Amino acid sequence: MTEPEWLANGARHVWRPYCQMKTAPAPLPVARTEGARLILADGRELVDGISSWWTACHGYNHPHIRAAVQAQLEAAPHVMFGGLAHEPAYRLAARLAALLPGDLEHVFFAESGSVSVEIAMKMALQFWINRGVAGKSNFLAFLGGYHGDTLGTMAVCDPEEGMHALFAGVLPQQIMARLPVDAASEAALDALLAARAPEIAAMLVEPRIQGAGGMIFHDDEVLRRLRRLADRHQVLLIFDEIFVGFGRTGDLFACEGAGAVPDILTLSKALTGGTLPLSAAVASRRVFEAFWSDDPGAALMHGPTYMANPLACAAANASLDLFEDGRWRAKVTRIAAALAEGLEPCRDDAGVVDVRVRGAVGVVEFERALNAGTLSQRFAAAGCWIRPMGKVIYLAPPYVSSGGDLERLTGAVAKVVREGALASAAGAVEAV
Ligand SMILES: *Cc1c(COP(=O)(O)O)cnc(C)c1O
Repeated sequence: MTEPEWLANGARHVWRPYCQMKTAPAPLPVARTEGARLILADGRELVDGISSWWTACHGYNHPHIRAAVQAQLEAAPHVMFGGLAHEPAYRLAARLAALLPGDLEHVFFAESGSVSVEIAMKMALQFWINRGVAGKSNFLAFLGGYHGDTLGTMAVCDPEEGMHALFAGVLPQQIMARLPVDAASEAALDALLAARAPEIAAMLVEPRIQGAGGMIFHDDEVLRRLRRLADRHQVLLIFDEIFVGFGRTGDLFACEGAGAVPDILTLSKALTGGTLPLSAAVASRRVFEAFWSDDPGAALMHGPTYMANPLACAAANASLDLFEDGRWRAKVTRIAAALAEGLEPCRDDAGVVDVRVRGAVGVVEFERALNAGTLSQRFAAAGCWIRPMGKVIYLAPPYVSSGGDLERLTGAVAKVVREGALASAAGAVEAV
């Protein structure tokens, strides 16, 4: 393939994500997107197996979202959110509050997932300060977890598996625990909280699937245990639904399906259907009320410049419209069945330790880390965009993926696994 000129000219200047710039293969130049396809500069079409980091749930260039963004672009692409208001954000906040379970009804917008987690953490710290409870200045997070790449969120990612091990000595030391997946780990967490709750503002968890930390699944009972433990020991509970929110696990929100309502919830990724950056930290009434005061000092002092960007909010409202008819449920169920059937043959292949599916997420886990760069080149040669992560090859396709596209994706995974995915494992540097 001849490289487009812009790629050759810019390659020296663009610093790519999660990338050893010296050794990584060149990125694939994308000219267009359409539905579940990436169309490359040379005209090749790749079936997208990961929805652009789990954002493009309705597929790319959805006409309804595109029209909403275009209309908003004519009206007002952006205004600051301090002292000004606009319909897309106010409508979106009210709709999210109506969709979310319990009294999660106070929506604070930001532009990226990591920043929404930072805001949730800041809310939790100040919740206790405003209530006059001193000393609750740490967080408890779980092994296998991932909550972002900014300094505050790095400290609550898995210290070993995560992408931030280098910084271990620099970050604030947060408390790491095992998820309460059984009676023994529940008792251990109960004991840990009994001893240390006075210094803990909140526990953070990715409900149902710990995503970037390795696509690790847990049962809904784990989330109900966390809710009980948080109440018993007086710590707040934060659910980070940035990956699992908006239908990915079969319920619109994992907390709704699991019957466990957190005190603060974070959303991003599929919030705008994969068109524009937007995130939200949604607080329960109890959390919000701790800030409701005649004292200006009790206010939440936060306000990203591009918070509640009207284009992004218009896209999110349009994405919610697409969820409204409920047809996504049948699509996710169909994807789950196709992934289970298509990936099952990998179970007996060399180096594979597990094959699992939950909702529209399918995972093949290996005993050792994989080389993401080399393997994604092999997948591209098979007409698929799939990027392994750590020890897993996973699929999280758009909900609009056709049966044929799903077969191409699982077929490519099965083929690469059969030919020996671990063979090219040496020097696995890249992560997500
Ligand atoms: C992706 C992700 C984040 C970080 O979101 P960014 O938009 O990349 O900052 C945080 N938490 C979870 C669970 C995620 O999957």
